[in-house]
Amino acid sequence: MTKSYEVIDHTYDVVVVGAGGAGLRATLGLAEAGLKTACISKVFPTRSHTVAAQGGVSASLGNMGEDDWRWHMYDTVKGSDWLGDQDAIEYMVREAAPAILELEHYGMPFSRTEDGKIYQRPFGGMTTHFGEGIAQRTCAAADRTGHAMLHTLYQQSLRQHAEFFIEYFALDLIMEDGSCRGIMAWNLDDGTIHRFRAQMVIIATGGYGRVYFSCTGAHTQTGDGNAMVARAGLPLQDMEFVQFHPTGIYGAGTLITEGARGEGGYLTNSEGERFMERYAPSAKDLASRDVVSRAMTMEIRDGRGVGGGDDHIHLHLEHLDPALLHERLPGISESARIFAGVDVTKEPIPVLPTCHYNMGGIPALWSGEAVTEKNGDPNTVVPGLMAIGEAACVSVHGANRLGSNSLLDLVVFGRSAAKRCAEILTPGDKQRPLPDDAGDSALDRLDRTRHAKGGTATAELRGEMQRAMQDHAAVFRTGESLVEGVEKLDAAWQKRSDLVVTDRSMIWNSDLVESLELDNLMFQAKVTMESAANRTESRGAHAREDFAERDDVNWMKHSLVWCGEDGKVRFSSRPVSLNTLTNEVQTFPPKARVY
Ligand SMILES: Cc1cc2nc3c(=O)[nH]c(=O)nc-3n(C[C@H](O)[C@H](O)[C@H](O)COP(=O)(O)OP(=O)(O)OC[C@H]3O[C@@H](n4cnc5c(N)ncnc54)[C@H](O)[C@@H]3O)c2cc1C
Repeated sequence: MTKSYEVIDHTYDVVVVGAGGAGLRATLGLAEAGLKTACISKVFPTRSHTVAAQGGVSASLGNMGEDDWRWHMYDTVKGSDWLGDQDAIEYMVREAAPAILELEHYGMPFSRTEDGKIYQRPFGGMTTHFGEGIAQRTCAAADRTGHAMLHTLYQQSLRQHAEFFIEYFALDLIMEDGSCRGIMAWNLDDGTIHRFRAQMVIIATGGYGRVYFSCTGAHTQTGDGNAMVARAGLPLQDMEFVQFHPTGIYGAGTLITEGARGEGGYLTNSEGERFMERYAPSAKDLASRDVVSRAMTMEIRDGRGVGGGDDHIHLHLEHLDPALLHERLPGISESARIFAGVDVTKEPIPVLPTCHYNMGGIPALWSGEAVTEKNGDPNTVVPGLMAIGEAACVSVHGANRLGSNSLLDLVVFGRSAAKRCAEILTPGDKQRPLPDDAGDSALDRLDRTRHAKGGTATAELRGEMQRAMQDHAAVFRTGESLVEGVEKLDAAWQKRSDLVVTDRSMIWNSDLVESLELDNLMFQAKVTMESAANRTESRGAHAREDFAERDDVNWMKHSLVWCGEDGKVRFSSRPVSLNTLTNEVQTFPPKARVY
């Protein structure tokens, strides 16, 4: 197959796939360490989804009141509903301050306090004295923190002479005897195929929110790296844990901040009823994210959704003073106008619980090294492969992520992966030749998809998958509904072979890109739905109506899941690390859940 495509060979010490916060932080560290580094990205680096992060990045700097990394650790363990690995969490919260100060020295334009320190704001779940007070821990660059972070890291990486392959679409890993030897990529701009040989491949391809109909993430969030890992016969971890935000704009998914309800906004169903009064009589529309999301979903499932398809809910702001809307919620008013065609001073915004973050991903250690199960040991390092950022499951977020802990995860583990590479790799080390058939299977897949002549359009199959996920694996989960979801996805899986791609060119062929992305999404939809059906308890973001309690006896363990080309799914598990990294902090034993 390689013969029918022009293949250009490259050799690097390290190839990073992804140029979001995680990929760029790793790239910068690798280039600083003198390792010849290539960073591949399907979009221009500063267009990665990290650019959309507004709120900020956590670190117990204590600039705006007392703080301690132990309190940050406690909050993160509790937020994870005791599924987070406590050694990795300790590493992350302790490395937070140095990682943030480094960003400051790299030139990241943080907002400032009166006396010139990095400004920090309070965020949900971030406390002092082990839950007693409210911490101001989230470092911010106005409401553009991710934007500031990406630009800083990209500029510094260029300064260190990292090489970028921009608008290159990574296809598949090159594996040999269980080790990763490189990666295949397609240059979208001139149609050439590139084979990268490397001592280490670092996957930093972000989340896979686009398996759902409604998602706050970019259209590029298709979890390509996770799918490559699954196709290489390696496991994914904790894929049932998906965080939902109650108010994404219907259809577009764009986030409408909680602040809209904080300012007096409220939700109604098709009968015009303020239904949150029934579900949460005191907190009402300001109940926690998962409670509001579940209530909205029940209303829709009971036939009280609004709109032509009875499939969403109304968020009202039109009763509020237009001056207040203009002053406090200008961004929201603009988003509603652009993405829903709604004037918030006159009519309600159509909203839907929306996928916001994937806690699951490629199992990895805090050093960034990807792991698999071998001879019964689920902590076996996969030689030549690392995973960082939202694509990875380290697992610091466990069953639920605290706001502002993701941007932290990106910089801390991007940095630790680069450090680990500097420790174990030698710059310019000779690499043995790749096997003769290296990359053939990736090109077979590309070629098959490019010439697909079936009867199902990519958008149609994607819609079918997204609807099944939205209806059966969102915030409201029961065994019965999940089984139905599994059946729907099985039916969709069969249609993969009936896809039709109309554009056969190799240059800016968005039809082909979307079809390859859809195939990647299908793997993740499958394992997410089946993992959710498999886990018979409620923990963090995974809330089962039929198993409402957390079950530490049977389920305090990570799910490992494999998915074959035939769509068959296999499970195993990995113990949660309840040990800390050092003796400077005690472990946090599981506590009862408090709603
Ligand atoms: C609207 C929104 C607001 C958020 N706000 C916050 C916040 O305030 N604080 C916080 O901590 N978290 C926040 N989050 C979460 C956080 O922003 C993300 O989890 C994080 O940015 C993910 O970063 P990443 O580096 O893993 O991946 P991304 O930034 O998603 O980047 C992925 C990279 O991989 C590349 N890529 C993917 N597939 C391929 C392929 N096949 N070939 C080549 N390249 C590929 C892409 O081009 C891109 O460069 C928010 C998320 C959203 C959606």
